[in-house]
Amino acid sequence: MTRDAREGAPWDGGPDGEAPREECGVFGVFGAADASALVALGLHALQHRGQEAGGIVVYDEARGEFHAERRLGLVRDNFTSKEAIEALPGDKAIGHVRYSTAGGKGTQTALRNVQPLFGEFEPGGCAVAHNGNLTNAVHLRRYLTQRGSIFQSDSDTECVIHLMARSIQGPIRERMEDALRAVEGAFSVVALTRGMMIGVRDPLGMRPLVIGRRGEAWVLASETCALDIIGAEYLRDVEPGEMVTITDEGLRSSRPFPPAARRFCIFEYVYFARPDSFVDGRGVYETRRRIGEELAREQPAEADLVCPVPDSGVPAAIGYARESGIPFDYGIIRNHYIGRTFIEPSEQIRNMGVRLKLNVNRALVEGKRVILVDDSVVRGTTSLKIMQMVRDAGAKEVHFRIASPPTSWPCYYGVDTPERDKLLAAQHDVEGMRRFIGVDSLGFISLDGLYRACGEAEGRQAAAPQFCDACFSGDYPIRPRDAEAGLTGPGCAPKRPVLVTRKAS
Ligand code: AMP
Repeated sequence: MTRDAREGAPWDGGPDGEAPREECGVFGVFGAADASALVALGLHALQHRGQEAGGIVVYDEARGEFHAERRLGLVRDNFTSKEAIEALPGDKAIGHVRYSTAGGKGTQTALRNVQPLFGEFEPGGCAVAHNGNLTNAVHLRRYLTQRGSIFQSDSDTECVIHLMARSIQGPIRERMEDALRAVEGAFSVVALTRGMMIGVRDPLGMRPLVIGRRGEAWVLASETCALDIIGAEYLRDVEPGEMVTITDEGLRSSRPFPPAARRFCIFEYVYFARPDSFVDGRGVYETRRRIGEELAREQPAEADLVCPVPDSGVPAAIGYARESGIPFDYGIIRNHYIGRTFIEPSEQIRNMGVRLKLNVNRALVEGKRVILVDDSVVRGTTSLKIMQMVRDAGAKEVHFRIASPPTSWPCYYGVDTPERDKLLAAQHDVEGMRRFIGVDSLGFISLDGLYRACGEAEGRQAAAPQFCDACFSGDYPIRPRDAEAGLTGPGCAPKRPVLVTRKAS
């Protein structure tokens, strides 16, 4: 589904609001007169990474104050008016868009969880925006609350604030290093103090973070598409395990963590990142197109037409068509004007399902053998409904091709996936999935094929995988400590013993 044109979070990936949703986007500007307006634009470009809420914190040099605004809803509805921007004066600002992967989803709870979070420490204030998910946050929260910390939200990120407060280090940057050494999991963090913007990635570099420049100003962003929107130039990625500290004196780099082998999230290429972005050194569109080419080689089918499930299946379908020589066409048309406000109030409308968003181009598919290409199958409920529609429109044969291996394992690093027992691939083999979805044939790209498409000519190095592919392989590069203990929410008691992982390397 299109990342940039997404309108309603509950709608994406599934008609019932039950499909997994993605993580978060972070953005920061240091040293530009209109910092909050630039951050609002950057967040708008990152809206595909989270549509539930957004927030901006600025430092106003003239008054020596921080200003913060956190709202539920889309950036364009909350941060584009003159008043909204004027309420956020200053030349340094950071922002965040979220879909909660940790933290409650009720309105009040949700508002408390909207980032950037803010802490007032002895050396001054610090705002923190986090993309990723901490795998020991519940353990840490228990430890901290037992020692007197009073949490204001149930976001995993708040642990970082409390750890910073307890740090015996003096300056804020050192406190942050201290705090981040205690957390486990995935983090790309952007933070703002009175005179400093900090960008830091976890040692494995699971989530993206890039550095840009716009004239004299410095920019940090989850993806390069957010640099483009403000006319900033891409400089480089923040490296895994690197902390960059930006002040009036310029950018300084440090390595506060023990070195580790990089494991960037491969699902960013499959689905998350916007196709016009470059993340972790690779162009997303180009990678997706190559995935489609690999898929065509590995999973050929005799057909008249290759059609994408729009929009996330488009680049892979183009690659598939190019490699197979079968014509590409839009057999499914997407309505881009599906919005939360329209959908949420009515159960009846919700039940109309995927038809509100996608419609089959009957004239094109009728009587044809069609190859449909989508990025992934998670629960399978969306695919099931799409395939029914294509059949109802008179397709003679439907061959479903998936631009990722079967999603068999939940993600604990910032991708909101359902529990394992809700993942179709955890319940069925490919033939069982084919029958469930109701297609003539079903084929997934192999993990090696996916690696090759991501530029790893030899495929996946089993002894030292180059990416985090836990959702496909069950090989978790960081033990999901909370989940293994059955801890799923803030301060919660273990609910049930669960098999959450196959292995942790
Ligand atoms: P389903 O199999 O019904 O759960 O839906 C799968 C579809 O959801 C895929 O084709 C993707 O377009 C989309 N999808 C996959 N992963 C995610 C995610 N983490 N968040 C939102 N949508 C997703």
